[in-house]
Amino acid sequence: EGADAARVVVGALQRAQQVLHGAEAELGDLDAIAGDGDHGRGMCRGIDAAVEAADEALAAGADAPSVLRRAADRWADRAGGTSGALWGVGLLALADHLPADAPLTGAHVAEGLHAARDEVCAVGGARVGDKTLVDALDPALEALLAAHGGGAAAADAWRAAVRAARDGAEATKDITARRGRSRVLGDKSLGVADPGATSLALLLAEVGAALGV
Ligand code: ADP
Ligand code: MG
Ligand code: MG
Repeated sequence: EGADAARVVVGALQRAQQVLHGAEAELGDLDAIAGDGDHGRGMCRGIDAAVEAADEALAAGADAPSVLRRAADRWADRAGGTSGALWGVGLLALADHLPADAPLTGAHVAEGLHAARDEVCAVGGARVGDKTLVDALDPALEALLAAHGGGAAAADAWRAAVRAARDGAEATKDITARRGRSRVLGDKSLGVADPGATSLALLLAEVGAALGV
């Protein structure tokens, strides 16, 4: 039923909020090495605003796509920074694939992540290898699609996606940034994981259980 999917979305956002607050300092430290140090704070501002908006929408009886759209808008509005704008764009695209009046399934999430990857790449202009959050998002999506295509159980498919996101974030250590703020600092980012890829991988790993797909 639709109300269930809406509640699942709010639960997943609440879990994301806990995770991001727990990682705020670490993400800020990563961003301080070759960026401006605000990634942890920005993600916390974004998710706090998103949870607030989602709670309001749920209380007003909104369905799952509407709940996530309101959360995405508020995130982009309040987070500030490049990552805030891109998280807003990505979550809006994901929202279009959530069921309005059916239970949430792994297929909804996979289709939604597919749209999110496409929109984030179109809007941000980054490609795999540019040392951005796309380096975690793209391999996660490809692993998820491959696992679904191969008939894997939903939990196994998600595990494969999480592994790919972590590996992708880890591999950004070996890249010099070409996009976003840290590109101007060039080699300073070498040996350090991209903050946006790191937070994205962390969120996929921790939010999967809350989605229950
Ligand atoms: P800002 O760089 O505006 O301070 P944040 O610190 O919150 O914003 O986010 C930085 C992260 O945003 C980077 O680590 C990178 O992952 C991501 N990012 C920056 N530019 C792009 C882009 N064009 N496409 C995708 N991700 C990007
Ligand atoms: Mg920053
Ligand atoms: Mg900034």
